Amino acid sequence: PHMTAPADGATQASAHRVRVAVETPQHAGMADVLDYLAEAELPPGTLLRVPLGRRELPGVVWPGEPSAEEAANALPAGQLRPVREALLALAPLPPAWCQLVEFTARYYQRAIGEVALAVLPPELRKLDNTGLAKRLKRLHKQMGLPDPDAKPKKRRKADLQPEPEAVPEVPASPPVRPALTTEQAEVLARLSPQFEAEAPACHLLFGVTGSGKTEVYLRAAEQALAAGRQALVLVPEINLTPQLEARFAERFPGRRLVSLHSGLTPAQRLQNWLSAHEGHAELVLGTRLAIFCPLPRLGLIVVDEEHDPSYKQQDGARYSARDLAVYRGKLERAPVLLGSATPSLETWQHARSGRYQLLTMAQRVGQGALPAVRVVDMAKQPTPGQGQEAPALCPPVLAAVRDRIERGEQSLLFLNRRGFAPVLNCGACGWKSGCPHCSAWRVFHKLDRTLRCHHCGFAERVPKACPDCGNLDIQPVGRGTERLEEQIATLLQDVERPGGGSVRVARIDADTTRHKGSLEEQLAAVHAGEVDVLVGTQMITKGHDFRRVTLVAAVNPDSALFAADFRAAERLFASLLQAGGRAGRDAEAAARSEMWVQTWNPQHALFAALKAHDFTAFAASQLAEREMAGLPPYSHLALLRTEAREGPVAEAFLQQARDAAQAWLKTHGGADVMLYAPVPPPVAKVAGLERRQMLIESPSRGALQRLLANWLPELHVLRSSLKGIARWAVDVDPLSI
Ligand code: ADP
Ligand code: ZN
Ligand code: ZN
Repeated sequence: PHMTAPADGATQASAHRVRVAVETPQHAGMADVLDYLAEAELPPGTLLRVPLGRRELPGVVWPGEPSAEEAANALPAGQLRPVREALLALAPLPPAWCQLVEFTARYYQRAIGEVALAVLPPELRKLDNTGLAKRLKRLHKQMGLPDPDAKPKKRRKADLQPEPEAVPEVPASPPVRPALTTEQAEVLARLSPQFEAEAPACHLLFGVTGSGKTEVYLRAAEQALAAGRQALVLVPEINLTPQLEARFAERFPGRRLVSLHSGLTPAQRLQNWLSAHEGHAELVLGTRLAIFCPLPRLGLIVVDEEHDPSYKQQDGARYSARDLAVYRGKLERAPVLLGSATPSLETWQHARSGRYQLLTMAQRVGQGALPAVRVVDMAKQPTPGQGQEAPALCPPVLAAVRDRIERGEQSLLFLNRRGFAPVLNCGACGWKSGCPHCSAWRVFHKLDRTLRCHHCGFAERVPKACPDCGNLDIQPVGRGTERLEEQIATLLQDVERPGGGSVRVARIDADTTRHKGSLEEQLAAVHAGEVDVLVGTQMITKGHDFRRVTLVAAVNPDSALFAADFRAAERLFASLLQAGGRAGRDAEAAARSEMWVQTWNPQHALFAALKAHDFTAFAASQLAEREMAGLPPYSHLALLRTEAREGPVAEAFLQQARDAAQAWLKTHGGADVMLYAPVPPPVAKVAGLERRQMLIESPSRGALQRLLANWLPELHVLRSSLKGIARWAVDVDPLSI
């Protein structure tokens, strides 16, 4: 393989050799750090524009010495191409940032250049030095800071050492802070010394819903800021950033707070990133991508709802922002605080083993009580007449909803499936609304009368008649949130609100919140009491502090119980507990707060643990199962996925990959790495491509990593020798298998 960029011809006698991380085409088997020539010595982390082939690409001067292999293959200086431009207007990316990127690339088996460039704001990759200097100037003006032109262009090593920044003046009237609960005070007493510790720990803040975890985050951030450091707070979803931002802004008036998530415009994102990188922003709130934000004075990382699957990036470098937060905290000597009422079993295991500090808050704040959980056995409910569908809510749940309406309280109905119905069916010939491109049904969306595939996006108008037999009577089967909303409105049409008027049913899911600001608007209506019954997907179960909700019902949680995925029960437990956590937050109504669960499997152990609000018992039973089955956290997994037009081609790739891995393991030792047979995933065909996957498992993370590092280069070669492989990727620590 080429280890250096091909020469331009032009040579410069006084030039310096620099190692540059660039996005090389991976399949070419090129190294991802290439040598170039620069006119001056450039500090590591400097952003550049370099030629590669006929293109000009962004790159980053990479720290460290070339490996022995790289050195042996290095081209003589005369054959190196010169750097096109060094973006010296931007301070070099800090060494810790480079180290985080390099770790991510190695651990998740991607190229350094790919990760480095993917995690920078997209705008940054386009700008040249002049454009960047203009942006910085504007930014500094907006923030009331000195003109960057006044700074020396070239930074010295000493400039890279972060200095605590002067703390801005405290505003005249400090914000009101609630007196801490006993548990909060205890937790913070244990956390405080960490801000001065030589090697700060990682903590699990295990606090029941409503125990006031946010207040702990706020106080922790306050400590970090008081020490002149920056705090990074991660939330699982964009939707949760506005409310968190509001709380932080209120608590820290006058402090510089920025958010980082994919919902920002490219310009905003660049601006906020620059502000963090330059050390101006003191608080950075964001989604998983914010874990890569350079922060010269990082002093705290919070990961809220650490168990949430959204922390795992699902394409490209499939990193876990939660896991990287733990690594980064260690690297930059910043305390890490992972918060959850239902921690992931991996985190829970670390907390139990003492690797993480366990901080527990078992009580709700004030008089708030956890709702009573009632599990309804659907088998004991009245059966619908011949050819009729069972109503969305069984009689006791419907009665509970009516009861809330009469008292002017809110109910929340949780159904994790959007659209009107998951499939349309022709009773005459058996036609179903399959997707022509995927092995999946197309979902019926009534509002715009479309059949939409949730896997590939393929959408069409609903046919007037059965496409196969012409039958006019094609029927929806099953129920999504859109239909639930409609059915609830019908079920409650004879009910009158105490204040007069009919019952107000609203729905919140990905379909109702497409437009910017619409979620905030809908949530505001709920908070203002303008909604009696709220129907929604898991979007409504996360994080929201609904004060008027006294009833939460899980309409159809069973599908998750029998999913092939080994994490299905863990996920379901977490989402039900989170959902239940929305009820009973108001002290006065807490005593009569309930969570109802409609299930055909009331004997499932998960429900017993849910009734007792006993995460610990649930985790213990799950861990026992995982240990028996040799699944995480007792083993480490990687999943090799591939896609091809033809299933057998995809299988052949995996089979040959498997043979290659086995051969490697035989000669290099690694008896404890297990390679499973290639199988199709639950949805085997998506957008016309057949998917296959192969699981690799080992009790030793090191053994698994060694195999992957040595094996993947072979797979690049294998792929080019096989015709018809559309793509392949390895997913380290996959969330589902
Ligand atoms: P969690 O994130 O643990 O579910 P929240 O942070 O949403 O809990 O807190 C629940 C509610 O309790 C919020 O309305 C919050 O403002 C309030 N709260 C938190 N801590 C205190 C406190 N020490 N005193 C009074 N109210 C508090
Ligand atoms: Zn038909
Ligand atoms: Zn499809």
